[in-house]
Amino acid sequence: MTLQPTKLELATPDRLRITWSDGAIHDYPVRELRDRCPCATCREIRNAPPPATTLLPIITDAETRPLRITAMKPVGNYAYSIDFSDGHDTGIYTLETLREWGRETSAP
Ligand SMILES: [Zn+2]
Repeated sequence: MTLQPTKLELATPDRLRITWSDGAIHDYPVRELRDRCPCATCREIRNAPPPATTLLPIITDAETRPLRITAMKPVGNYAYSIDFSDGHDTGIYTLETLREWGRETSAP
């Protein structure tokens, strides 16, 4: 049987917490989830050669504000799509991936 989240919550505004059907509680820094976004666009960016060091990255207004999760939507029964406050919402995070990335926490 596949493990399913029984509870999704924000432990703090920048930390997602998932309680799994086997009782494990895992924490996920929002920034880390965003940086590891599995969508095709983000994968391409991560695989691109690093930009020349003289180029400054262009940061949008939204990127200067603290990153938050604004919504999580189930995709079938195998994944969640996560909406981030920077407007990015194309990442599909499979339960398998989330389970693998999770850091066990015992915090209440
Ligand atoms: Zn992405």
